[in-house]
Amino acid sequence: MNSDKSIQFNTSSAGETEALGEKIGTALEAGSVVALYGGLGAGKTTITKGIARGLGVQDIVHSPTFNLIHEHIGRLPVYHFDVYRLRDSSDMYDLGYEEYFFGDGVAIIEWPEVVADILPDDRLEIHIDADGDSRTLSLRSTGENSARLLGLIISRLV
Ligand code: ADP
Ligand code: MG
Repeated sequence: MNSDKSIQFNTSSAGETEALGEKIGTALEAGSVVALYGGLGAGKTTITKGIARGLGVQDIVHSPTFNLIHEHIGRLPVYHFDVYRLRDSSDMYDLGYEEYFFGDGVAIIEWPEVVADILPDDRLEIHIDADGDSRTLSLRSTGENSARLLGLIISRLV
């Protein structure tokens, strides 16, 4: 069965991208993994703020570049990674990443290409392309679980 699906959205402000993230966040479940692809300033942290809000997080969400991970508590634990500064995935083993990726919460990863070798096969990918204030956000599933989540997200957005 081919479970890879994709859908595109366009936004024209940070607020719109956050609002899209919020709808995504409401659909996520324990064990969901969201991989955020896009260059510096694409809007990975911006959409994470929305996703966290959709998960009921009330803290201020900002980039964990210097900490590698920020943990927030919403209706589920939210593990926000920014692995930009890592050379590869070796430091993720020291951190015990499996508990975050395969645990009781939602993992959101900025710069997932850096740790590509340890990403779960089944993940919700968000690819962001920027042009001025316009963003094209492509949501893709890579397995059965993420395909089901994407279906839920689409049903809430249309
Ligand atoms: P990243 O985490 O990918 O490096 P950030 O989310 O930190 O990016 O920054 C995105 C920047 O782009 C912010 O300054 C935000 O205000 C700006 N921006 C402008 N238009 C948009 C948009 N449509 N969606 C998201 N961010 C936008
Ligand atoms: Mg960021």
